[in-house]
Amino acid sequence: MNDTNEFQSDNLQRFIFDNAPVRGEWVHLTDTWKDVLSRREYPPAIEHLLGEMMAAAALLTATVKIKGRLVLQLKSTGPVTLMMVECTSNNTLRAFAQWDGDVEDDATLMEITGEGALAITIDVEGAKQPYQGVVSLQGESISEVLESYFKQSEQLETRIWLAADSQSAAGLFLQQLPGESHHKEADEESWSRLSQLASTVKNKELLELGAGTLLHRLFHEEECRLLSTTELRFSCNCSRERVADTIGLLGIDDANNLLQEQGHIEVACEFCNEHYQFDQVDVAQLFSGQLNSNSDSKIVH
Ligand SMILES: [Zn+2]
Repeated sequence: MNDTNEFQSDNLQRFIFDNAPVRGEWVHLTDTWKDVLSRREYPPAIEHLLGEMMAAAALLTATVKIKGRLVLQLKSTGPVTLMMVECTSNNTLRAFAQWDGDVEDDATLMEITGEGALAITIDVEGAKQPYQGVVSLQGESISEVLESYFKQSEQLETRIWLAADSQSAAGLFLQQLPGESHHKEADEESWSRLSQLASTVKNKELLELGAGTLLHRLFHEEECRLLSTTELRFSCNCSRERVADTIGLLGIDDANNLLQEQGHIEVACEFCNEHYQFDQVDVAQLFSGQLNSNSDSKIVH
């Protein structure tokens, strides 16, 4: 029996347990992941990490019920210098990584990142300031890093399992919810039982099995109930206007220097690799607009 053909990928499945205050999520990405990989070729170790980060971003976004976006951003001394994954409440994902130099195929997390940190930003639409949590990159895997983030920030027992290859990215998430105080001991016991059962999951199972089959395999003696599913897809919301804003931030002198060197300014979106070109007329227009809007609010000497 080939299970791979029997479930819908690019989906997130929520589940709960009837007999324990524990919630869970399963995610599996195929087309979404291949869309990211079609835009840039990555060394295998970086591809692996980026896939795991994609699955993690989807799992984390589903835990925060917000309208907006969640961004996982990894910054390190290298070879990976920057890795960004964004998941929105419209169920879209996009991701990219930048790196310097060679990376061994079987490089560990520490070998890929050296010293660094993972920032988790939650940008709620209409909020003045985004929420940001930062955790240092310590541990053998990104799931370990995220587990310690949850321990520090939410003080909720959380376990995360992630897997990725060149075809799929997948993950499993389990979190203990606050229960009633007189059930504390029983709740602790069920958490340790459920998280132990889940920790028998193998990467191959995450990558190849659908939620129903996998959860039955892990929790067949538990009362595990499937809740809602969410379909996910790749999408990038970059636009010519946003790129123009970025050029505006350069200032007119730097923009003109670039024009002189290259004849035009070309900017590629890191996420989707779309190229935007601005010629002399575009740039002149851009800054004349900026000058006009500035003169409204600033005193020009
Ligand atoms: Zn884009």
